[in-house]
Amino acid sequence: MAEGTTLSFPSDTSDYLAHDGLKKRILSISRRLRQAQTHLHKTLHTDLTAFAQADIYFEPGPDGDYPIVALRSVPCSYYLHGYCTPCAYSARPRPSSDIRQDPYPALLKQVDNLLSRFDELFLHRTNGQLPGYRIRQRKHDRIYMLQLAGESSFFSDREIPPDYRRNILDRFLQFSNKHHVDWHLMLEVRPEDLVKASESGELDRLQPLLETLNVVVNMGFEHDDQFLRQVIFAKNLDQNVFLKAISIAKHHGLDPGVFLFAGAFILTPREVLQQMAHGLAFLETQGVFVNVMLPNLQAFTLPDLLYHADLYNLPEPTWLLGLMPLLLDYAPKRSDGVTPGHWFVGGVVAEPAPDGTIVNHPRLKCPQSLANQLLKLTHDLRLGGGQEMFKKACKKLYQTAKTASMACHCPVFNDILRGCSPLEGDLPVPTWPQRTHQALAIAETQLDAYLTKKSAEALKVRPRNIL
Ligand code: SF4
Repeated sequence: MAEGTTLSFPSDTSDYLAHDGLKKRILSISRRLRQAQTHLHKTLHTDLTAFAQADIYFEPGPDGDYPIVALRSVPCSYYLHGYCTPCAYSARPRPSSDIRQDPYPALLKQVDNLLSRFDELFLHRTNGQLPGYRIRQRKHDRIYMLQLAGESSFFSDREIPPDYRRNILDRFLQFSNKHHVDWHLMLEVRPEDLVKASESGELDRLQPLLETLNVVVNMGFEHDDQFLRQVIFAKNLDQNVFLKAISIAKHHGLDPGVFLFAGAFILTPREVLQQMAHGLAFLETQGVFVNVMLPNLQAFTLPDLLYHADLYNLPEPTWLLGLMPLLLDYAPKRSDGVTPGHWFVGGVVAEPAPDGTIVNHPRLKCPQSLANQLLKLTHDLRLGGGQEMFKKACKKLYQTAKTASMACHCPVFNDILRGCSPLEGDLPVPTWPQRTHQALAIAETQLDAYLTKKSAEALKVRPRNIL
């Protein structure tokens, strides 16, 4: 806890705890943080004339690394309004704005650039087999996958207008025909945008392309608990809209994947596991693939501000041992499932690069070698290890943890080895709205100091270049 700050909780009847009021305060803080970062980017990057390249980073796949590609045009509108508290996906340096300049033709240049670097980005990184994938249309020996989004959503008309969407997908098809390779495209979309694309008839018109390119969609849901999703995450997503988007995706054979966020700044690690269990149970009934996002620290976000105020911490990597059994038990019925397995864990690699992840942040206690082993175990389990592999690895890792004096830091670990459910235990006394109010009161007090510190740091070190 930062010096000079004390925790006191108002009664639950207080107006301070009304959900709308808490959400407005979260939005207001996030907007100020993002505006300050945008201003800083303008100071640091005066030489950008246009987006010549998409932003690209890589995640490990079944046969090597695959690229995650963010096509750049205009910033995500939810980001600009302060929604989606921990998100920094649209926090990027931009060309100086000229309102007469059309931002969309650069999208096609970014795709052409991507395809012109096929060897570097695809061929040299995988063997082009995608073992275990149930590919619908396979005409060639090699198949390559990539995740593709706009600044937030591939189906956002504001970020990628419909004509450009078709043109982009067409370019992948032409490349496929010319170079004799197949594609598996994972498109990131906001649920509202998919509903709109369905209602306008666009999805029907695109169906042949979607099938040929073996398209699946990924959508953010973050939390099934309404308070966590709409207030703490400020997602601005109605559950009925989300369910409609899932049903549309299934109707079009787009094997939906859903992002579930493993964290929230008011929750204890044990509560996060409880929320994961609830969220997974709900998504299992929907028959969807799940992308579990581990929390990280992105500069100029509320969680990072609270981390600096010593009011929030990332879970120790041993916490993954509480998450893994939940994922191993996750068994949705996916009739048109393309991706093998039913889950993925991300959030350790991200763009923009986070200031800290659960295996790499200044207050991490776990030895790095143990943290790496835990991450590797998560990866191996995803690719097919079962309960037996988990139990064996648990015993081995426990010895490593004991040797490194970690056992005392791992209540989850101890629960598992005692055979107890990691989900049992007493909840802390303050309610979630009480904790939210308290965290925000501190964030509001510390906001100016945080901005001064982060800006000074950024002005000393220019952000690193990515591909
Ligand atoms: S989570 Fe998606 S919609 Fe929300 S701010 Fe980030 S990019 Fe935009």
